[in-house]
Amino acid sequence: MLKEYDVIVVGGGHAGCEAANAAAKLGGSVLLITMNMNTIAQMSCNPAMGGVAKGQIIREIDALGGGSGIVSDKSAIQFRMLNRSKGPAMWSPRTQNDRMKFAEEWRMMLEQNMGVDFWQDMCNGLLVEGNKIVGVKTAIGVEIKAKSVVLTNGTFLNGLIHLGEKQFGGGRAGEKAATGITEELAALGFETGRMKTGTPPRVDGRSLDYSKMEEQFGDENPSKFSFSDTAPLTKQRSCFITYTNNETHELLKTGFDRSPMFNGSIKSSGPRYCPSIEDKINRFADRERHQLFVEPEGWNTVEIYVNGFSTSLPEEVQYAAMKSVPGFENVKMFRPGYAIEYDYFPPTQLKHTLETKLVEGLYFAGQINGTTGYEEAACQGLMAGINAVRKVQEKEPFILSRSDAYIGVLIDDLITKGTKEPYRMFTSRAEYRILLRQDNADIRLTPIGHAIGLTSDEALKRVEQKNAGTSQLKKILEKEGVVPEVANKILIEKESAPVTQQVKLSSLITRPNISMDDMFRMSEKVKAQAEELVAIHQDIVVQTEIQLKYDGYISREEDVAKKMSRLEEVKIPSDLDYFRLASLSSEAKEKLSALKPVTIGQASRVSGISPSDVSVLLIFLGR
Ligand SMILES: Cc1cc2nc3c(=O)[nH]c(=O)nc-3n(C[C@H](O)[C@H](O)[C@H](O)COP(=O)(O)OP(=O)(O)OC[C@H]3O[C@@H](n4cnc5c(N)ncnc54)[C@H](O)[C@@H]3O)c2cc1C
Repeated sequence: MLKEYDVIVVGGGHAGCEAANAAAKLGGSVLLITMNMNTIAQMSCNPAMGGVAKGQIIREIDALGGGSGIVSDKSAIQFRMLNRSKGPAMWSPRTQNDRMKFAEEWRMMLEQNMGVDFWQDMCNGLLVEGNKIVGVKTAIGVEIKAKSVVLTNGTFLNGLIHLGEKQFGGGRAGEKAATGITEELAALGFETGRMKTGTPPRVDGRSLDYSKMEEQFGDENPSKFSFSDTAPLTKQRSCFITYTNNETHELLKTGFDRSPMFNGSIKSSGPRYCPSIEDKINRFADRERHQLFVEPEGWNTVEIYVNGFSTSLPEEVQYAAMKSVPGFENVKMFRPGYAIEYDYFPPTQLKHTLETKLVEGLYFAGQINGTTGYEEAACQGLMAGINAVRKVQEKEPFILSRSDAYIGVLIDDLITKGTKEPYRMFTSRAEYRILLRQDNADIRLTPIGHAIGLTSDEALKRVEQKNAGTSQLKKILEKEGVVPEVANKILIEKESAPVTQQVKLSSLITRPNISMDDMFRMSEKVKAQAEELVAIHQDIVVQTEIQLKYDGYISREEDVAKKMSRLEEVKIPSDLDYFRLASLSSEAKEKLSALKPVTIGQASRVSGISPSDVSVLLIFLGR
């Protein structure tokens, strides 16, 4: 009934959508098997995309030819560029999204991709011959053959929902848990673990008093995620901010003895940086209040997401405590918050391609690898989808390095260091932050995406125009001088030291308070030339400013990255017997034998590996 596919993707969440879309765009025949076609690309938790470090990931996905950026733009209801007051390495785009439209846009994108077939069913087993995947089995008893399989089961594997003392099997509120796969993988020798995450209550916006809250507007001139021609927002919906108080905390505490977090029902680790409200009260007992973001769930719905109030306390405790929050006195609840425990597979069992080391042709992506967050899941899906189809097409693996992209950092962290608690991306995880900016994701990655056939000629042309225009504008600023009589008026106004002789504009733009607008005020000629260039590509002025202002930092990071890349080039034979290397520490012998790093660079990042262990390896390998 169903043909043999190049790639089967199990799961239609953020990872699954990217995987299926990419594998089919690259010419593979793809089957997306998901438990419920109506929940494709469901946002299980908050209706928002991007944010600090995560916004950079969405732009990277987009630059490579993935779908999350386009879908996020088309379903956005508010756009904000976070951290604008900090350096450009920290600028992070974030959208509030229409939950239903987000799912609809993803489904439309997949349906328009003729290489993707769909099958609604639960995959409950794998077909493995020797150490090779050959297909999957489903709950209704169908066996479907494939050359590669990408598992993106999210929070569904043996999912267990906790609400106070109540427990239900489920992958998400109102959805069944997925069974069978964990047990089969464990029998094949995979190590498995349990993690936990939680979500806040959803409430009726008509029952809230917004006059008691602070309004949080979107940006005045909203930007967007995608480098393609998606349109920026012309109208936006506001979010609101309110706070818990002592009364809220006392009311929440009345339920602590029935909290699965505290009474031992939940044993697994949750996301450290996204704690539940009961956890926050417990851990930060001296805090008098906690901030809550009141976020609309879409354009045409009254449903509100109470960001910051994630909880698994009994529903009546959640309700009573929420009523003590300013603006929530008459709140009506749509549904309570809950926590969920699920199976994951420690990601050190994967290669950089996200293929498993144990079963050839089997790939894991998303929450199943111990990550948390839509963006983290989506980028893994993209990389797994690309690699799954490239393997079938007998092409080289597609790997991004730590200096190429946050995506490279994320995958390298996961497979080299593993994770014992849900892993989310932060800018601090990247050593080359100034290189991995959101504004240059297209410059970094679109040529690579184009080379593998995922991004269009048009996208590549746009990047070439941006690069050419930026170089041109930089040259203009390097050539154009400004005399003290013109420059000093503006410099003094901006509290910057005046100049005593004619200087090049490029030397002034490096000053902290001075912007490109000031350059234009100093030279009408430069302004006119910049306007011509911006007509070709709108990012040219911003890109020029960033590249000139941060030139020193950028070059320094490029140098370090180049030096480190030499270690990445020294390959370690996969059959190396570390126990034969007498001078290696015993910790290094054990850890390196278990992990089997592919390069010296990767070995050097394994926790517990010292510089002297690295030297021993280098000497052994003749370096
Ligand atoms: C209650 C809850 C709270 C969360 N809180 C946060 C948070 O605070 N912050 C945060 O960043 N992230 C949070 N998340 C996580 C976020 O939702 C996930 O990181 C993200 O959705 C993971 O994407 P994914 O594609 O890996 O999996 P999911 O989005 O979970 O998608 C999995 C997909 O696989 C399908 N599926 C599963 N098993 C099978 C099977 N055997 N056969 C066929 N189809 C299958 C499902 O139907 C679903 O479509 C939360 C998730 C939940 C459920």
